[in-house]
Amino acid sequence: MADIVLKDVSKSYGAVSVLEKVNMHIRSGEFIVFLGPSGCGKSTLLRMIAGLEAVNEGEIHIGDRRVDQLPPNQRGVAMVFQNYALYPHMSVRQNMSFGLENIGTDKAEIARRVDEAARMLEIGPLLDRRPAQLSGGQRQRVAIGRAIVREPEAFLLDEPLSNLDAGLRVRTRVELAQLHQRIGTTMIFVTHDQTEAMTLASRIVVMNNRRIEQIGTPMEVYSRPASRFVAGFVGSPAMNFLPVRALAENGGKAIVNVGGAVVTTAIAGASLPAGRDGLTFGIRPEALRVAADGEIRGRVVLVERLGDRTLVHAGLEDGSVVVAEDIGKSTLEAGMAVALKVDAGAGHLFDADGVAYHAD
Ligand code: ADP
Ligand code: MG
Repeated sequence: MADIVLKDVSKSYGAVSVLEKVNMHIRSGEFIVFLGPSGCGKSTLLRMIAGLEAVNEGEIHIGDRRVDQLPPNQRGVAMVFQNYALYPHMSVRQNMSFGLENIGTDKAEIARRVDEAARMLEIGPLLDRRPAQLSGGQRQRVAIGRAIVREPEAFLLDEPLSNLDAGLRVRTRVELAQLHQRIGTTMIFVTHDQTEAMTLASRIVVMNNRRIEQIGTPMEVYSRPASRFVAGFVGSPAMNFLPVRALAENGGKAIVNVGGAVVTTAIAGASLPAGRDGLTFGIRPEALRVAADGEIRGRVVLVERLGDRTLVHAGLEDGSVVVAEDIGKSTLEAGMAVALKVDAGAGHLFDADGVAYHAD
């Protein structure tokens, strides 16, 4: 087992920079998720760790070895691709054995590892089938099995669930979490799906626009987003953002006017800009509740019933629309007047560059 360390790793294709000075320290056994929108460089970063993509600048260390100049097969990591990349003319057993045969592993040892991986992944009965005779979920497991038999220091998985239908995606997600609990091997998992990141990760690396926005546990990233980007990308339905001007600043707190309600948000040691404007107030729908005594007045424009709760889209006096929560048995309908209440202490404040002010 080994830590994986990236130091100032940068990548460009010709003149186009796709990653700039990426730093991280992945501890052995962690389940790390690279999360970000399409095109932000997640796959490129993963492929650089795997050795499938050259590093322009910086260093990658796995355990006590610097690996960024080593070929993929000497890095001790195993990659699982989105399209599985199974050999169609080989049986499942052959697909899982092939890589080990190539490096001259003893036949009995190969059989032992394949059988153990097949048992772990419950694909024993499928070992003699060809990939074409498997469902998408089964192919996914074979691809993971092929990685497991190599007994790598880390598994690198690039959007491994995105080809599965919704139900299977959730089941496979749970299986993957359980597999990680059992074998404890470091996993680096790439996805653009914030639910996958929240449910699987020990720590999430949120990426955007060539760089890392934040690294933290799912609840750190959710509760204390470092930037407006992170705040908006993690959590569903998304956080509401409203432009605000602070009325006052007082002992580590900003007092802002949100649609007629006076709300206090912690800003810790930071101080507000001169004029106290250019700020954005962020509030999650679950912290903006329909309440008879709510100070924020609005009109319902849309109601989304989720059963256990109801999402109420409300137009405010200034023309902005926010998403608030009501109970499952909400009687609200479009066109009705509604009053909303901000949960004390649940608001977030961002400066003009989208950087969060934080409570400490
Ligand atoms: P993600 O996996 O987050 O969707 P990628 O790592 O695949 O993003 O891509 C990051 C950026 O690098 C994108 O803008 C993409 O167009 C660009 N890119 C990826 N591979 C190449 C390549 N071989 N040549 C040029 N540009 C590339
Ligand atoms: Mg990708």
